[in-house]
Amino acid sequence: MAGRLLVEEPGLAPILLGGRAIGSEGPIFIAGPCAIESEEQAIRIARRVKAAGAIAFRGGAFKPRTSPYSFQGLGERGLAILEVVRRETGLLICTEALDVDCFDAVRRVADIVQIGSRNMSHSSLLKRAGRCGKPVLLKRGFAATLDEFLHAAEYVVAGGNRDVMLCERGIRTFCSHSRNTLDLQAVLALRARTSLPVIVDPSHAAGRRSDVLPLSCAAAAVGAEGVLVEVHDRPDEALCDGDQAILPETFVELVDRVRLVSKLRCAGR
Ligand code: PEP
Ligand code: MN
Repeated sequence: MAGRLLVEEPGLAPILLGGRAIGSEGPIFIAGPCAIESEEQAIRIARRVKAAGAIAFRGGAFKPRTSPYSFQGLGERGLAILEVVRRETGLLICTEALDVDCFDAVRRVADIVQIGSRNMSHSSLLKRAGRCGKPVLLKRGFAATLDEFLHAAEYVVAGGNRDVMLCERGIRTFCSHSRNTLDLQAVLALRARTSLPVIVDPSHAAGRRSDVLPLSCAAAAVGAEGVLVEVHDRPDEALCDGDQAILPETFVELVDRVRLVSKLRCAGR
């Protein structure tokens, strides 16, 4: 396609989350379990991540799973739990709109509508997100080039919604030492091409909890405006992605370190 994309326009207006512009006060933290499992689980974890400095709670009510036999999420009941989390903690809610069918229900509850990696090229969903009036967190497809990623974001922006966060969550490579490969150079390349905020999800790249904290620091070192992290207080009982969920106490440390790395990066410029 000829010509500059809307997402490449310099100086797009900053995205406001809870009245704060993303990037104005250091990296943002979006944290919580992979999936909403019960009200108790969600509230317990939400209180911990809020105390550690998260601005938003993440948790899927509708889950895109590889196997049809795996837990698919609580659906509408999960959304009702997310409303309770917001009321009880004041955290913003980030949750995935899996398809056009559930989009409106998700949109009503979400402060940030997540579009997952598997759906990055789902153009009707992207068009719907363009009309939704809420910030969108768009995850990079695990085999998408940056051009494809930016064009996916363009669907949302061209549809009338400039509040798009780009999320690098790891891509598929030949390696078997991690679930995916976190493409930190994509963060650098995206930041050079667009003023949309870039968020890094180290959890789905790592696939195991020991890698999540160092990868988060690395994300801050390359200038990510935030991290999206899976946190669970009972990861062995998690119904989804327990191996990559960090404990709430590790999340406290992660927030501290990421802020420190970000300050060092800014001081060194
Ligand atoms: C998730 O965030 O839980 C998720 C399913 O991520 P992705 O779409 O990146 O696989
Ligand atoms: Mn997950």
